[in-house]
Amino acid sequence: MIKSYVTGFARIGEQRELKRALEAYWSGKADEASLQKCAKELRVRHWKYQKDAGIDVISSNDFSFYDLVLDTIFTLGCVPPRFVGLSGLEQYFALARGSKNAVAMEMTKWFNTNYHYIVPELSRESKFSLNADKIIAEYTEAKTEAGIKTKINLIGPITFLALAKTTDGSDALEHLSRVCEVYAELLERISGLDDEILVQFDEPIFVTDRAESLLKNIVPVYSRLSRVSSSLKLIVATYFEHANEACKELVKSGVYGVALDFVYGEKNRDVLEVLAGSNLVLFAGVIDGRNIWKSDIDKKLALVNEIAAKIGKDRLFVGTSCSLLHVPYTLKYENKLSSEVKSWLSFGVEKLDEVAIVTALANKTELTSAQKATYEDNKTSAAARLNSPLIHDNAVQSRVASLDKFERSTPYAERIKLQKEALKYPELPTTTIGSFPQTAELRAVRNAYKKGLIDTAAYEADIKKYIDECIVFQEECGLDVLVHGEPERNDMVEYFGEQLKGYAFSENGWVQSYGSRCVKPPLLYGDVSRPEPMTVKWISYAQSKTDKIVKGMLTGPVTILNWSFVRDDLPRAQIAKQLALCIYDEIDDLQKAGIKIVQVDEAAFKEGYPLRRENIPAYEKFAVDCFKLSVSSAQPQTQIHTHMCYSEFNDIIKTIEAMDADVISIETARSGNELLKIFKQAGYKQEVGPGVYDIHSPRVPSVDELVAQIKALLEVLPKSQLWINPDCGLKTRKWDEVRPSLKNMTQAVRIIRGE
Ligand code: GLN
Ligand code: ZN
Repeated sequence: MIKSYVTGFARIGEQRELKRALEAYWSGKADEASLQKCAKELRVRHWKYQKDAGIDVISSNDFSFYDLVLDTIFTLGCVPPRFVGLSGLEQYFALARGSKNAVAMEMTKWFNTNYHYIVPELSRESKFSLNADKIIAEYTEAKTEAGIKTKINLIGPITFLALAKTTDGSDALEHLSRVCEVYAELLERISGLDDEILVQFDEPIFVTDRAESLLKNIVPVYSRLSRVSSSLKLIVATYFEHANEACKELVKSGVYGVALDFVYGEKNRDVLEVLAGSNLVLFAGVIDGRNIWKSDIDKKLALVNEIAAKIGKDRLFVGTSCSLLHVPYTLKYENKLSSEVKSWLSFGVEKLDEVAIVTALANKTELTSAQKATYEDNKTSAAARLNSPLIHDNAVQSRVASLDKFERSTPYAERIKLQKEALKYPELPTTTIGSFPQTAELRAVRNAYKKGLIDTAAYEADIKKYIDECIVFQEECGLDVLVHGEPERNDMVEYFGEQLKGYAFSENGWVQSYGSRCVKPPLLYGDVSRPEPMTVKWISYAQSKTDKIVKGMLTGPVTILNWSFVRDDLPRAQIAKQLALCIYDEIDDLQKAGIKIVQVDEAAFKEGYPLRRENIPAYEKFAVDCFKLSVSSAQPQTQIHTHMCYSEFNDIIKTIEAMDADVISIETARSGNELLKIFKQAGYKQEVGPGVYDIHSPRVPSVDELVAQIKALLEVLPKSQLWINPDCGLKTRKWDEVRPSLKNMTQAVRIIRGE
């Protein structure tokens, strides 16, 4: 018989309970006991959801207060030395968020998702020692509180080290055999908990191009770990792409099974023969763990039957393509979505039913009456979506089909001269990335307006008041290029989506982005167009309040696409063009309103990168074309900025240059100046604003520190090419942090300029 499984479940809570509990704890309003209580309630609730849906294999240790890679740093006892002296949760959160005396660890995106993990920081001197408490406690809790013998989820040793960075240029993988011994010790401890336990090692690094250099480690590591105890069944899990190469090694390693993604890694089919010829069991991820459309159950069933025909039912588990961390919790609270759009959707909890139904159908066992109803509904709604008039707009389709101009006509070298003449900004111009603190009052105003509790006039007056304050403060600081502060935006993608045709919004479709931060990706279900200007009113209001230049602020088409849940019935490149035209029109309107600089944020450009080299050229072409199309309405003297909040440009610097933005601001504060050297080596021509301080941390950088940072930048790039700005938007920070930080930043620039 085929069994069902779930790779992992979300933890933030369907009402974002964990977010609230964390923030209360951080602000000192709640103690550790209440945080722990909330965490426990969530874990138990999530286990029960899975159990009630009839899932056979349910995970523990998929819970985390912040991030599972961070948890693994504690499991392996490799906390960087600057955090010693702290203990318990205080130390735990210091790694993620920084403390008075220690800057936070680097954070970056988990493969091609919008989830962020903490980057392990190692050196040749790193020591490792086991701390198994959390893992054991969660297993025991699931057993006693929910009556479930869970599969224990771990981040695999190879992925952990491959994702680590080192502070001394050494190779983190040098620690592999030592780390492997710590994992062996962990397994030894786990094996005492029950007569038989499944242990899942997440090794998503195996689906990337880096796998090539890591393959040789698979057999030594996993055969060592497989030998620890006969009561443990080890599964190596990969997701987001195929893992053909790794599978060929894993069959020789003695592990019990592999978990493969058959949604985003269709090529995993190619190793079915290899697996069939081995004695491994297969955990086949067939239900999409990353998108929100209902699965076509009959199609999924056909896929499972095809797999079962090769592998055999007794060695097959059917489940989600990846952890359900990447989709919202449940449709239960969605009361405002149109019933038609809602009938097309399936969130985390609903996906549990899909897993159970597909498994039961493949086993030819009888469905429960609830499952029967879900299955019947499923058959009709998938077809109804594709034929719905809601998703087709002829005007949009023909505009895209008749495009003949795809980029700005004046080359950068000429544009920048015109811009410098027109804009007259000083050397080392200072600016910010767009948003200013989203205060509780601001959120309250937006919510009240949304709920109809205040009228448009009252709402706009409040937003304008905030813009006024932002402008006054920026002038006081002496910043050169100002922003309006984005008070009208809840989220940089949702805000635009809300004003575009073809989009729908969930009320509660939150997905964890990092720590307590969640995002609510909009649902792009149909052809997209812009009925009216989206930002012009606010930007021109801000501009009317100052003689300095106010930079317009838009989200780029690639980012809108990458941060939306996107229809799966049209090629992404096609959808991206529709979005690009919306931004194109907006830039045109901003210019007409007298705005001279427009920033088009492409925060998610990088995370859309395919994990496999073979797919990169196509993505790059599509993403660059799409960005260029979106800014091609800009006059030569209108300066186009873009912003990307990450720090790995090594492989993509030429692509970034090809986007042809006039200025790019990037994240460097957490990763040092290594990054800038890439810009220098590549002979990058356009202007660059490397973030001079880390906005993910509440810490206020001192003037001295910033002076040193700017001097270091000047060693790499010439003054004439540099802008000075923070790492990213300031929306998550408090005014008390932002005010002194920006004052110190402009002060540091004045010192450097010798004013
Ligand atoms: N302009 C946006 C902001 O400042 C950019 C955010 C981002 O890059 N994530 O909030
Ligand atoms: Zn950013």
